Amino acid sequence: MTFNPDSNIGGGKISQRGRGAGLAVGGGGILALILAIASPLLGVDLTPLSGMFGGDSGQSQTGPVDNLEECQTGADANSNVACLMKGAAASLDAYWSGKFAQQGISYRSPADFVLFTGSTSTGCGTASSATGPFYCPNDETIYVDTSFFDELRTQFGANGGPLAEMYVVAHEWGHHIQNVLGTMDNLNLQATGPESDSVRLELQADCYGGSWAKDASTVPDSSGVPFLEPITQDQINDALNAASVIGDDRIQEQATGQVNPESWTHGSSAERVKWFSVGFKSGPTACNTFSGDL
Ligand SMILES: [Zn+2]
Repeated sequence: MTFNPDSNIGGGKISQRGRGAGLAVGGGGILALILAIASPLLGVDLTPLSGMFGGDSGQSQTGPVDNLEECQTGADANSNVACLMKGAAASLDAYWSGKFAQQGISYRSPADFVLFTGSTSTGCGTASSATGPFYCPNDETIYVDTSFFDELRTQFGANGGPLAEMYVVAHEWGHHIQNVLGTMDNLNLQATGPESDSVRLELQADCYGGSWAKDASTVPDSSGVPFLEPITQDQINDALNAASVIGDDRIQEQATGQVNPESWTHGSSAERVKWFSVGFKSGPTACNTFSGDL
């Protein structure tokens, strides 16, 4: 899935922090402490792998632009990962505001979508690159260090690709949708395990990501040009592959050689693939992960 080169992504809500600030965090102990403080945030659960990332924090290989104002067209999004993030924000915002309007409910955008390098303070505590991409309900902001996309390929063995990277954003945007809809109210997000509220919430965010992917090539910019070109099967496979490699069972297996379902927070690889696919096939109204089998 690539952007129509002529589409206008200039309205995508995004900001950038910490470029060149040298805020790299070193040492597994410090990383573990940061992860513990930041635990209420909703992100990829990289805790089992946290010791593996220490040396790489703050060294993004993905080439953010100096100024996000440089990202104005779909062609920019196709050539630069920071512009891709801005384009994804523009597309996701337009998609969800349309879906909410259809239902007659009021939508609000995330307060911000922050690209950061190294570490950054958030409404949910201090986050480092080792935290992985996440959404903080307290400040209604999505945080992504784009070096995570390198890790997806090198540490997790993902294929990568633009739809895989935008799936990560679409998943975090899905948490914002849950926040706006009040889905998080009255959930026990401290509990873990294969049937836990945490896993159900995460799988729903995957389903919302799939829902966006289904319709993304029809969502227009302010001039009526669709942001994205029709999705290809290879790109779908890349997104499903990304969902698979960040399944709890896969991450646990990679980190420790063992799978412990009782500590799951995000669901298995198979479940993540399944729920992205449910959204992709049937849209957000099919994303009820809170009743029935996962
Ligand atoms: Zn999540």
